[in-house]
Amino acid sequence: MTTIRNRYLDWLPSSGYAETAPVPVRAPSLLLVNETLGAELGLPPDWLQGESAAQRWAGNQLPPDSRPIALAYAGHQFGQPVPQLGDGRAVIIGQALDTQGSTWDLQLKGAGTTPFSRMGDGRAGIGPVLREYIVSEAMHALSIPTTRSLAAVTTGERIARSFGPEAGAVLTRVASSHLRFGSFEYFAHRGDVAALRQLADTAISWHFPSLDAHPTPDRWLALLDALVDQTAALIVEWLRVGFIHGVMNTDNMALSGETLDYGPCAFMDAYEPGQFFSSVDHGGRYAFDQQARIGHWNLARLAECLLPLIDEDSDRAVSAAERVLDTYRQRFEDRYQAMLARKLGLSDVRDGDDVLVERLLGLMARQGADFTNTFRQLSTAPLDNQASADTLCALLGDTREAHDWVVAYQQRLRSEDAQMAGQSTASERQARMLTTNPAFIPRNHQLEAVLAAAASGDIAPAQRLLSVLMRPYETQPDAESFASPPRPEEQIAATFC
Ligand code: AMP
Ligand code: MG
Ligand code: MG
Repeated sequence: MTTIRNRYLDWLPSSGYAETAPVPVRAPSLLLVNETLGAELGLPPDWLQGESAAQRWAGNQLPPDSRPIALAYAGHQFGQPVPQLGDGRAVIIGQALDTQGSTWDLQLKGAGTTPFSRMGDGRAGIGPVLREYIVSEAMHALSIPTTRSLAAVTTGERIARSFGPEAGAVLTRVASSHLRFGSFEYFAHRGDVAALRQLADTAISWHFPSLDAHPTPDRWLALLDALVDQTAALIVEWLRVGFIHGVMNTDNMALSGETLDYGPCAFMDAYEPGQFFSSVDHGGRYAFDQQARIGHWNLARLAECLLPLIDEDSDRAVSAAERVLDTYRQRFEDRYQAMLARKLGLSDVRDGDDVLVERLLGLMARQGADFTNTFRQLSTAPLDNQASADTLCALLGDTREAHDWVVAYQQRLRSEDAQMAGQSTASERQARMLTTNPAFIPRNHQLEAVLAAAASGDIAPAQRLLSVLMRPYETQPDAESFASPPRPEEQIAATFC
């Protein structure tokens, strides 16, 4: 591979990071390696197999030119400002250039204490490491922007956790950068406007190169505008697949638009909009149906940091930023309606579609219908045949209302087909729906089961689950059990980070 000199060192003021090496571990052993990603990154084979791979991804052996760093950042955690956070258990060992010419951070998460560890031990457990590996790769396969996972290794050391000792592990996270909303907050707290400008410039050149041509100071507002759009787009994608991030603190919001930091995240089984699983989210601040609103709240915290760049007159800066932030709601709503139209197989959004969608979601919520399987059923069953309409009705509770909804939906499809005569056929619609509505998501109970098996030494179930999740839109007849919602006794009430 091409490791390049750690690119953060080229521009980040020294207050923004600490040079710090991974703390070596006793007995590294490979759990999972992402050979496909490794090949895309052009990594040599011995980096991906055997003892030397285990040593490397545990942090025991670094590339000769590596200058590992931990990044400083701040953030709002559960609504409260925290001026000083930072990578407390992760180091960026450098970057890799992929075969397309894109640059990716390689970060070892769980690699020991750093100057930002506060009271923490700098380590990660096998459960959370495998959870992040599996869920991030599943998200990628679902075509949702996300950080990636290259490797998971156990360290041969035990770590102390509140529920007892756990095997230590290290995750190699690959991300198009590790800049966060909280990176801006860090320099804003310090009143370091020069660093804010550097950071904004870097964010533009790394993630929004088309804005490079914008003259200052317009480019800062253009950056905010781009982040508003990107945040709305990402959260709509989460809602498409029933994903609940769990910890949408501003330090977990990536400037790249990738889903970042898989802690106590979860996917919904039964549709219930107020659902949340995170054991640390007591009030449901980050519940499924709060995510859109929190996206806006987080953007407002980011905008506050950009004010000194936007205009030296603070009143003018505030009103300019507010004008951009105010566009969030409509942009979110437009994308949300378009996404739901795609899930229903509609090729455009028409008057009344929002009502049709709300009626469906209302029925699903009352029935506790499985979110994934209901939309998958819509996609696999051509509704012009009575048997499949009946199956759908049954999923929705077999009530008068369910029946009325199916009839209304059939009418909507027919009117579209009549208008689009000759252009779009039912089979094309079905093909579109099958790539929007997955059959396979990482269900909480299945994840818990494979993590438990891995903790007791059997990684095979995790590998099998991963292989199913790599093809989430395909019909996989031998994998039907992976599409099953949990039985009552299998239901997971809380997820932990
Ligand atoms: P998170 O909730 O995962 O976003 O983490 C919040 C902050 O806590 C980040 O600054 C992490 O680096 C830090 N942190 C989490 N776990 C540990 C740990 N075991 N040791 C040191 N720092 C940690
Ligand atoms: Mg975090
Ligand atoms: Mg975390």
